[in-house]
Amino acid sequence: MSESAANQASGLLAWYAAMGVDEAIGDAPVDRFAQSAAPPPPKNSAKSAPRNAPRNAPKTPPKTPPKARHAAPAPAPANAAAPALDGIKTLAELAEAVAVFEGCPLKRTAKTTCFARGSEEAKLMLIGEAPGRDEDLQGKPFVGRAGKLLDKMLAAIGLDETSVYITNTIYWRPPGNRTPTPQEIGSCAPFLARQIELLEPEVIVLLGGAAAKSMLETTEGIMRLRGKWKLYHAKERDIPMLATLHPAYLLRSPEAKRHAWRDLLVLKARLDKLP
Ligand code: URA
Repeated sequence: MSESAANQASGLLAWYAAMGVDEAIGDAPVDRFAQSAAPPPPKNSAKSAPRNAPRNAPKTPPKTPPKARHAAPAPAPANAAAPALDGIKTLAELAEAVAVFEGCPLKRTAKTTCFARGSEEAKLMLIGEAPGRDEDLQGKPFVGRAGKLLDKMLAAIGLDETSVYITNTIYWRPPGNRTPTPQEIGSCAPFLARQIELLEPEVIVLLGGAAAKSMLETTEGIMRLRGKWKLYHAKERDIPMLATLHPAYLLRSPEAKRHAWRDLLVLKARLDKLP
């Protein structure tokens, strides 16, 4: 390969990585949107299909290319609407319901579902924005660099995984770690609401602007929202809720750690008063 072709190829790879494409799974691109719009194969075709062929892959390439390469995602399937969640009585059952939910399009590009980590007995619930790359690989929230800093922040006020419960506003990684859209957050919101009801935390902490804006239903920025107590209206009772800066932001802007520290002290004072 010539030097300029090699440079071009490495530039393309870097661009893919920046867009969140971090794994090669085939030699040729596959248009999944065209596949999901295709009619299901005849019932007996599965046996004759090669073992690793995609289920709905057309046997011969289409003569004309699909009209729009980046067509809007196919409409969500029938079970896409959040099921009635009142019948779900444990966090384990809720995790199972989230795992089979098809109403959030991010699930199609994510590798795993990140439901939660920590203790189901915790009095403190932390809600972040969305799983990132490490979380997507491990299937747990806040296990990457931001998670390590979060663990240190919690340790500074005497907390760890045995005394907190950590989740996100959505359960699947957005491609390239982009901020989730209000629609994506909205599609997971009924699950998060039930998660709060089932956990029954005494205090909720919102990590970063996306979680704060969606939970506080506001467009105000995190710098204005942080450090102030608000109430979350759960079914049975109101739960005090505090927004603070996202650990990933603190990694990028260490000078902002003093604000986060102040918020942590406010949080600790509240937790210390709990019975
Ligand atoms: N950032 C988040 O908001 N959540 C995670 O789980 C990881 C990084």
